[in-house]
Formats: sequence, C-alpha cells, structure tokens
Amino acid sequence: MADLLDKYRDLKERHDAVTQRFADPVGLVNDRILSPTRGIINGREVILAGTNNYLGVTFEPACIEAGKEALEEYGTGTTGSRIANGTYGLHTLLEREFARFMGRAHCIVFSTGFQANLSMIAGLCGPEDTIFIDIDSHASIYDGVKLSQARFKTFRHNDPDHLARQLARHDPGKGGRLVILEGIYSMLGDFAPLRDFVALKQEYEFQILLDEAHSFGVLGERGRGLAERAGVEDGVDFIVGTFSKSLGGIGGYAVSDHPMFEVLRYAARPYMFTASPSPVSIATTLCALDIIENEPQRRERLMKNAERLQRGLMEKGFQLGLTNYVSPVVAVICPSEEAAVAMWDALLKNGVYVNLALPPGTPNKLSLLRCSASAAHTEEEIDQVIAAFDRAREQVASLAG
Ligand code: PMP
Repeated sequence: MADLLDKYRDLKERHDAVTQRFADPVGLVNDRILSPTRGIINGREVILAGTNNYLGVTFEPACIEAGKEALEEYGTGTTGSRIANGTYGLHTLLEREFARFMGRAHCIVFSTGFQANLSMIAGLCGPEDTIFIDIDSHASIYDGVKLSQARFKTFRHNDPDHLARQLARHDPGKGGRLVILEGIYSMLGDFAPLRDFVALKQEYEFQILLDEAHSFGVLGERGRGLAERAGVEDGVDFIVGTFSKSLGGIGGYAVSDHPMFEVLRYAARPYMFTASPSPVSIATTLCALDIIENEPQRRERLMKNAERLQRGLMEKGFQLGLTNYVSPVVAVICPSEEAAVAMWDALLKNGVYVNLALPPGTPNKLSLLRCSASAAHTEEEIDQVIAAFDRAREQVASLAG
C-alpha cells in the first residue's frame, strides 16, 4: 500500500530544487508590515507590489478604530455558524449595507470569498443542473462545481461565441443552467466581455453568477464592479465577492434580487457549517465599504498607478499579459519557470515583492510575475518597481551568462 503523501514526491522535489537556490516562494514571511505598500521581508524593506490591496485601506485609522471597538464590544470570535449562534447585529448590518450599496434586494455574508463561491455554486446547483465555466476560473469556482456534483463544461477564456455554441448544443433536461464568469481575472488582469455574455440570454436560457473578487471597489463609477461598468447589472443574477482585496479584510459576500435567494442560508452547506466572520472583520469591512462609497478618488489613483506601471514595464521591453487596456493587475510573462523564479528572487533582493505565479495554476501554463497596483503607491514607488525589474533582469542574465 502506498504512503498517502507519496503522490507529492515530484512536487516536493520541484520545491526543494527552488529553495536550494532562491527564497521560498510559498513560505515567504512578512516579518513586519509597515504600511499598505511597505513591509520587511527577509530583513529587508520592500515595496509591496503583489498584494490585492487595491485601494490601500489596510491601515485606515477609522477602520482600525472600528475594529478595536468591535473587539472590545463583541470579543475575539463568534464561536458559531451563521445559522446557530454566529449571527450578530454587525453581520446583518453589513448585509443590509452591502445590499444597499450594490442596489440589490438581498445579501449574504460569508467567512471568506472561497466559502462564498463554494456556498453559492453548490447551493444553487445539484446533479440535475449544468454549469458552464470559463477555463481560467479561480480554484474556488472549480471546487464549488465539484462540490455541487452538477454536470459541467468549460468554454474558452473570455469567449462568448464558444459558450454560445455549447449552449446551442446542450439540452438542459429537467435541470437549470448556470454560467460563471469573473470580473477581472486575477492572473493576467483581463476583464470578461460581460455585455456579450449577458446578450446571450436573449437567445438561450441560463442564469449568471459573476465573481467580482478583483473588480469590486475597483471598476464602475460607484465601485460596484464590472457589471456596473459594463452597464449590465440587471442581466447578472448573482454577484459574489470578497472582503480580502479592495476592502482590506477577510470574508465574502453574495448579492442578488432573486426572490428565493435567502433559502441558500439553510441550503448551502459551506455557509451553514462554518464559523461566522469575526466581529473585527465585519467592523473593518463596514468601514472600508464606506471608504469605497465616499472616496472615488482612490479608484482614479489606482488606475493612474496601474497605467504608469504598465507603461513603464512595456517601455523597458517586458512582455505583459495585457497591453490594450489598463487593469490594476499587471502580469509580466517570463520565458520559463526557472527564469520567473530567478527574477522573483532578484526582485526581492532589489526591494520589491510581487507574486510568483507558476503552472499549473496559470492560464496557458504561463510563468508570471504578477504585479498589482494600489491607490496607496506613490509615483516614486511605481518608478522604483519598474527600475527594480530592469536591474533584476540584468542580474539574472549575468547569472545565466
Ligand atoms: N475568487 C477569486 C477570483 C479570487 O481571486 C479569490 C482570491 N484569490 C477568491 C475568489 C477567494 O477569496 P478569499 O481570499 O476571500 O477566500
């Protein structure tokens, strides 16, 4: 009989080979966090250019104060799930605020964005239903689909025509059909062509679930996400998102106008059988939501910084995942996995942290250095990131030579 962990020998060897030469990409420790854009890693001060802190809200004094008050008033944790003792007035207040902000009748708050996707997908769909997902969907979407036991099909990335052909050929039988999309895809930063996907509803029957994890707070005049920006909020049945990016906390949400939406509170197991978000998380998220609503200038600064980063890296000759429009995620495509790891390590030594993203978790098996801009970056910091990329490339090339 095999040892259960034997299946990971190749994976471990691959990891060991990396850590013999470079900093450990999956074991990295932030010794200190100095601000939304600065930290100490391996004893060195670095610019954080690979977080999802798009609006830079993690050190907002008002949010920290709100978190402290919640800690004093409600304690460290709820010690129960939402359907038992884990729903406090804070949770329902945040749900009401979110529903209002999103212009929807209903909102459910979850413990993480991952849990929100598991709950929504496996709550909405069962074995008799069919789910159509973009091939580059996030792991939480794939896992939600598995958990649902629904039939599923993948369509080519951001390709409404391919989805249309699949819908045309498909007989839903007695079940329903759910199409799952993301607002901004996290690895390359590209947006879904949402209007074209929604337009397919004129010809085919299906419901849409849109994951706005990376686009909430970032896109749209009010910051409601890609559905707002594309002007198709009415065509999107369910929106899912997270508190862990533009809101700078931890937790997730789903909103909808569906009259039966609330039934998911006692049908979706990942919602029912996990502890509710801590009072601190809810309080800081309420505060961050207020910032998103009242400080649209942060979205402008974010996009200016993103544009500066994208342009600067392009001018230095780096190959980017996205060049025809601006996104807060700027991904540098590396020629190989080895080159990506070496560059990532050299960037750290040059005082810049970005995300290292390697196959199989990347689109088209690309090796990426995923940068993300923040409204809190100064122009100087963005320029330092670009200069560090330039220096790191020279150092890595001289190592190889
Ligand atoms: N959906 C997408 C598209 C994501 O990128 C992420 C987080 N990386 C999640 C869901 C999960 O969010 P959370 O971190 O709140 O679990």
